[in-house]
Amino acid sequence: MHRTHTCGELRLTHVGTEITLAGWVQRSRDLGGMTFIDLRDRYGITQLVFNMDDDAELCEKARTPGREFVIKVTGTVRERSNKNPKMPTGDVEVKAKTLEVLNSSKTPPFTIEDDTDGGDELRMQYRYLDLRRHNVQEKLILRHKLAIATRSFMDEAGFLEIETPYLIKSTPEGARDFVVPSRMNPGEFYALPQSPQTFKQLLMVSGYDKYFQIVRCFRDEDLRADRQPEFTQIDCEMAFVEQEDILTIFSALTKHLFRKVIDVNLPDFRRMDYATAMEKYGSDKPDIRFGMEFKDCDAFAKGHGFNVFDTAEAVLGIVATGCAEYSRKQLDALTEWVKRPQIGAKGLVYIKYLGESSVKSSVDKFYSPEVLEMWCKGVGAKPGDLLLVLSGDLDAVRKQLGELRLHMGRELDLRDPKVFAPLWVVDFPLLEWDEGEGRHFAMHHPFTSPKPEDVHLLENEPGKARANAYDLVINGVEIGGGSIRIHDRALQSQMFDILGFTKEEAQAQFGFLMNAFEYGAPPHGGIAFGFDRLCSLLGGSESIRDYIAFPKNNSGRDVMIDAPAPIDEKQLEELALRIRKDS
Ligand code: ASP
Repeated sequence: MHRTHTCGELRLTHVGTEITLAGWVQRSRDLGGMTFIDLRDRYGITQLVFNMDDDAELCEKARTPGREFVIKVTGTVRERSNKNPKMPTGDVEVKAKTLEVLNSSKTPPFTIEDDTDGGDELRMQYRYLDLRRHNVQEKLILRHKLAIATRSFMDEAGFLEIETPYLIKSTPEGARDFVVPSRMNPGEFYALPQSPQTFKQLLMVSGYDKYFQIVRCFRDEDLRADRQPEFTQIDCEMAFVEQEDILTIFSALTKHLFRKVIDVNLPDFRRMDYATAMEKYGSDKPDIRFGMEFKDCDAFAKGHGFNVFDTAEAVLGIVATGCAEYSRKQLDALTEWVKRPQIGAKGLVYIKYLGESSVKSSVDKFYSPEVLEMWCKGVGAKPGDLLLVLSGDLDAVRKQLGELRLHMGRELDLRDPKVFAPLWVVDFPLLEWDEGEGRHFAMHHPFTSPKPEDVHLLENEPGKARANAYDLVINGVEIGGGSIRIHDRALQSQMFDILGFTKEEAQAQFGFLMNAFEYGAPPHGGIAFGFDRLCSLLGGSESIRDYIAFPKNNSGRDVMIDAPAPIDEKQLEELALRIRKDS
């Protein structure tokens, strides 16, 4: 037997027991008369003691295994004289009787400790060693718990987990597809699914009225810090439901997951329509852990001879509570911050509301103290507050001020990672106009239904129609999104018209779905949660990569296995990707 117990298991109740442990050498200390080894496995660390006086040969042998050697030890559990309250096994140690080296190890390229000395790249290259670290294991354990909690809730609620294919057909909508050449069909390609969207809708037509799947999705997008080319969704669909049903059940799922995985009781989910989110926070995924809502400053800013404001489409401000005493340096830093290319503002105007009848601003030249004070009062600032103002085109200003608001929230410690503020954003626009392509795109996807009361707009003003779509946002992170779908062939076909598909193109790409709608498609809708993102939110880490056992780096590479990689000529020929030279 390789082991009777794990390295995280032994307690005072085991004292006197003969045991066998196996694991990795975390570290060893040779004190001359005694050798100590900290033995590690994924359950914990146990101290082993070898005593010169008891068995000189064994003690000698215990000096040889270096870091990360795999050893097996038998011995007796005894109470430690020098207890370590920081370790769960810290009350005991194992007085060793035998030691067997099961395998040696090269010195690892970085220390296998929570606080490792290994850089990102090195740890990714040796991810199998990185995964030995306790804090990395905890993240994968959290992921596992999240999957189990999801499955148990969904099962309990009557959902069936059904797998859908990974080799499907490329479609022009959405992100870029990863494609897979078909050897048996030369010159033809499968695509890896960006999501099981059409399949889950077909399952509704088939009568599987509650479906879910924890499923891998693939999107060939330019990578950002929190993106992976392959990622996981909790994908869900239900028939005979309206938006209200979906929001209810998936609020309950989310609450269940937070309770089960991190023992947090979420507050009730707030709701906000898209238009309000944009108007008050400049974002469709506002962080509502704090207020600092946008204030329309047009009425105060315009008509005083300050050309920048007079000619701007929008003048918007936020009130930073208690920041009137910000120094020149701090304000300069904020100005520099908004002028960075990532934010792109031209400048920042501030008004310090120092006290009753006491204001100081960066535009004192244009505005009298009375006007400035009226402005402050008008937007709800109190003495002691700082008003920060941006101006320009409405969409741009909203975006910039939204970023500044988040930045200030961070500066003022208003974004406590232990506080969770869930929000359903609803009533998204159905379409967005793409200036470059000169056509509408579906804001969510082409299968999303318009709100019934907006269907009449499709004919002449489709851009004004709102969608039966919703996003779940927690702390400024989009955790999930979905919609009530179109289930009527004619409406789906009209939707493809609006998106600029010819009848033939629509039939060729999505005929299978529209045909299915002619065979008794029930009303249906669903949602998909970003599983990796949910992990990182629950685990309190910024990066989703930490929660993926073998992630890709920022250029989409797996540096451990060195993928992607070229394939050989023969494979290329077989896949009809290269014509044989002699043919
Ligand atoms: N398939 C959608 C997505 O991946 C989610 C949904 O509409 O259910 O974003």
